Amino acid sequence: MNKDLLLSNLRNIPDFPIPGIQFKDVTSLFKNPACMREMDKTLYEMYKDCGITKIVGIESRGFVMASALAVKLNAGFVPIRKPGKLPAETISESYTKEYGTDTIEIHKDAIDTNDVVLIHDDLLATGGTMLAAYNLIKKMNAKKIYINFIIELEGLGGRSIFPAEADIRALLNVEVNE
Ligand code: AMP
Repeated sequence: MNKDLLLSNLRNIPDFPIPGIQFKDVTSLFKNPACMREMDKTLYEMYKDCGITKIVGIESRGFVMASALAVKLNAGFVPIRKPGKLPAETISESYTKEYGTDTIEIHKDAIDTNDVVLIHDDLLATGGTMLAAYNLIKKMNAKKIYINFIIELEGLGGRSIFPAEADIRALLNVEVNE
């Protein structure tokens, strides 16, 4: 994978959305065709032999590469969304954030026990969002679960909150203050 291509096109926005946070803006990768191709190709190589049947994307930046990869892997795409956005019957999972709690939802009939699931989001920070998604898919008794990010922020310990058996892969590892 051409990491330099991706890293040189990744926009960093200091103090967004609050002072002290370096926001990694993946839309600067999404708008660049060479970066899109590079991410798509790398993800395909990473997961082509895993037997994945469903790719779950986390709203909203997780939707982009999850859908592109679903087409390539001949898998289905499933959205995880904020409460009240999905029209059919849902199941939900709440998790603690720095301030208060948050909830995510998935359609109840989106995953079955024969599914091998890849959950994808743009970025791993503290891991709270993805752990909630992982717990949600676990509750649905998927056969196997893989976890993927475009970027893993190093230094926040996000990876350490997952059970040891969780298969977590990222395209880029970036220091939190880089
Ligand atoms: P967390 O639950 O702390 O792992 O946060 C992950 C979610 O928040 C992802 O959906 C990211 O899109 C977003 N996020 C958190 N921190 C950042 C950051 N520094 N830059 C870009 N997105 C972030």
